[in-house]
Amino acid sequence: MTFEKLNLIEPILRAVKAEGYTEPTPIQERAIPVLLEGKDLMGCAQTGTGKTAAFAIPILQLLFEKQLPAAGKRQIKALIITPTRELAIQISESFTAYGKHTGLKHTVIYGGVSQNTQTSILKNGIDILVATPGRLLDLIDQQFVNLQSIQFFVLDEADRMLDMGFIHDVKKIIKKLPVKRQSLFFSATMPPEIQKLAATILVRPVNVDIVPVVATTNLIKQSLYFVDKPDKKSLLIHLLKDKSIKTALIFTRTKHGADRVSKDLMKAGIKAAAIHGNKSQSARQNALNNFKNKQTRVLVATDIASRGIDVEQLSHVINYEIPNIPETYIHRIGRTGRAGVDGVALSFCDAEEKKYLRDIYKLISKQIPVVEEHPFPMKDCSSSNTQTGKRPVNGKSFGPKG
Ligand code: AMP
Repeated sequence: MTFEKLNLIEPILRAVKAEGYTEPTPIQERAIPVLLEGKDLMGCAQTGTGKTAAFAIPILQLLFEKQLPAAGKRQIKALIITPTRELAIQISESFTAYGKHTGLKHTVIYGGVSQNTQTSILKNGIDILVATPGRLLDLIDQQFVNLQSIQFFVLDEADRMLDMGFIHDVKKIIKKLPVKRQSLFFSATMPPEIQKLAATILVRPVNVDIVPVVATTNLIKQSLYFVDKPDKKSLLIHLLKDKSIKTALIFTRTKHGADRVSKDLMKAGIKAAAIHGNKSQSARQNALNNFKNKQTRVLVATDIASRGIDVEQLSHVINYEIPNIPETYIHRIGRTGRAGVDGVALSFCDAEEKKYLRDIYKLISKQIPVVEEHPFPMKDCSSSNTQTGKRPVNGKSFGPKG
């Protein structure tokens, strides 16, 4: 499949080529034709699947085709709402990239910063608005934003909106939208409350489910280190001595864990920062920016905080802890190996975490190669027999059954 076959217009094809995309991702292949036909869409998909382009490209194309010669101020015709400032900025950057030859104007608004720059752009008129819910409602109340001309509405990361307590704000926004519009709804999971919400927004939607693409993990070189919990810190510091690790995103299960690992690394002279839900938005954005521009070598994150982090050319992902939900493993390692770049994913597994490995192996239908030789081999084999059904071989390393 090629982008040409999706009937995209030349200004968009040119922009997509400039991004280096050679073929559409599965969600793009399935969603773009449906959206170009004007249908509503319910997408069960995570960040990392290419879903932003899957909605941004058809919106840009349809708006471009309907564009009239300038008559008065531009009205907002497409609204995208997303839970966090990081995601909002990334979506806005995608509109900049894919829409650069369309002449359409967009902007992004989010809370935690002064509204003045945002309102002065809004006053000049835009076609597309990307927003977080709180700031949007605020600016609607102050009459800087009028939703009467909306033709396209995208609700992004709906389940996360629910998690973060934004659902009432979202419902308020929906009430302000014109009834006649095309609506798109994205969520990584579809709990009942989310399905109910979707039913109030969408009309005869086409469903597109993109289960995390296991195939993408083939691009990523995966390795497993069996190590006792107290030795994980030393193993991490040891591995980071390798200068070929230019950037590493490290995952921990808890916020406290993320802080601790980042402090340990700093003490060892490795530039690191932690990013999680207890940090302020500006602290998170700073940490992310420093990581993106390579001032910080290591970013330690929890799964929730990391959702939506999109770092180009991230070379290494390190699972400091094995996730207990197997899909999370795929989401985590999928942060590297993006857009054809080779990636490396290292995972540290202690005795208690072996049970999680079995589920991961089932999901990815293969075992992760074990690094036998490292300075901190596992001594604690307490849970090995029950979890793996194998006796440890020389107490060093052994893989659980797949
Ligand atoms: P998203 O799921 O929208 O956050 O996109 C994840 C990443 O995939 C971003 O870095 C995009 O630039 C990249 N991407 C999106 N579409 C494609 C494509 N067709 N080919 C290669 N990379 C893509």
